[in-house]
Amino acid sequence: MKDIYAELISVGDEILYGQTLDTNSYFISAELDKLGIRVKRKVTVADNQEAMMRAFKEAEDNADIIIITGGLGPTKDDLTKPLLAKYFDSGMKLHEDILEDLRKRFAKRGRELNELNKGQAELPEKCTPIENKYGTAPGMWFEKEGKVFISMPGVPKEMKYMMEDTVLPKFKEIFKTPVLIHKMVKTVGIPESILAERLEEWENNLPNEIKLAYLPGLNQVKMRLTASGEDEKYLQKLIDQEVDKLYEQVGKYIYGTDESNLASKIGELLNEKKLTLACAESCTGGYIAHLITSNSGSSEYYRGGINPYHNDLKINVLGVKKETIEQYGAVSEETVIEMAECVRELFGADIGISTSGIAGPTGATKDKPVGTTWVALADGKNTQTKLYHFQFDRQSNIEITSNSLLNLVRQTLSSK
Ligand code: AMP
Ligand code: MG
Repeated sequence: MKDIYAELISVGDEILYGQTLDTNSYFISAELDKLGIRVKRKVTVADNQEAMMRAFKEAEDNADIIIITGGLGPTKDDLTKPLLAKYFDSGMKLHEDILEDLRKRFAKRGRELNELNKGQAELPEKCTPIENKYGTAPGMWFEKEGKVFISMPGVPKEMKYMMEDTVLPKFKEIFKTPVLIHKMVKTVGIPESILAERLEEWENNLPNEIKLAYLPGLNQVKMRLTASGEDEKYLQKLIDQEVDKLYEQVGKYIYGTDESNLASKIGELLNEKKLTLACAESCTGGYIAHLITSNSGSSEYYRGGINPYHNDLKINVLGVKKETIEQYGAVSEETVIEMAECVRELFGADIGISTSGIAGPTGATKDKPVGTTWVALADGKNTQTKLYHFQFDRQSNIEITSNSLLNLVRQTLSSK
């Protein structure tokens, strides 16, 4: 079986100016991947005749399927339709049924079609129209020497409808692709280079059918195993075997696979051990609470959180001693210990966690540079602390603090 390749073309000045994020190609890539169609290249081009014609030609040389989004509005700046007519050397044809449908839809809203709207029902003769339930510009399906060109509007809702209603079902029918299986193995608390070093021998001995990619994030590294071939059962077995080997070698860093996240893993562990959690977040400002409560069912184990940003609240609401903050400062081991112990008591949880740090870019002092971060975990018997010196921007400092503390919770629960 032959691999089928696709190229995606996003058309629009707004994408190149950085005003619109190209979510269309993100969606289309993921959908094609599910069908085993390999996206070989994505390009974004301006609303410009020469650039677009060149992109069509390059895509035709490069891929079996070419999917174009954008440039289908009724106004002069939208060029995709006339240029595709030119590219395929096709005259135009008025589709009476589409025109009638547009007329009815406009009438429902008490409007009449103007010339620009009527023009939407005119399409290149050589294409098959694709129905657009949510907008006025139909999509277009062209075929040329075994290659398929598809044009859809840029409006994400319209494009999605066409993909799901027409394009993907037709692809399933036409293209017989090799099986493509992905498995994501997610680790935390080990740098990518050390992980790769530990797994070098394993990686060198991977079966030919499996490809490996390391995808690093903030204190987390995902490993993506991709298997491709003909026999789905066999490939699934191969992947499962390799994942088992990963657990044998670096299992203590793995918190889950595929859709699982660090907070959901902690939820599982807390449920298993029938324990509850509460958090007092200063520098993370509620981000940990957000990660935890993003998982359905978190009310089973999450008691709640407090975000005492001002020292008054650390003292008067949470119960941290005034002298502790005066003597050691808000960003200190002594303060996070009291924060974790107090929130545990106050919220009636088995485990209390806390954060206090300088997320930046302002707020540094001589002995506490930006990124200085203390976290604590109190379980009623022991209170553990950790000091970090992160060197990222504010948002990343918040995220990595959250991931690091959640990992401490995971490790503590796993060892209980
Ligand atoms: P168009 O089909 O060019 O008239 O596009 C209409 C609207 O869809 C634009 O104004 C954008 O807001 C949006 N849009 C166009 N291309 C994309 C894309 N690749 N991803 C997300 N939105 C898009
Ligand atoms: Mg446009």
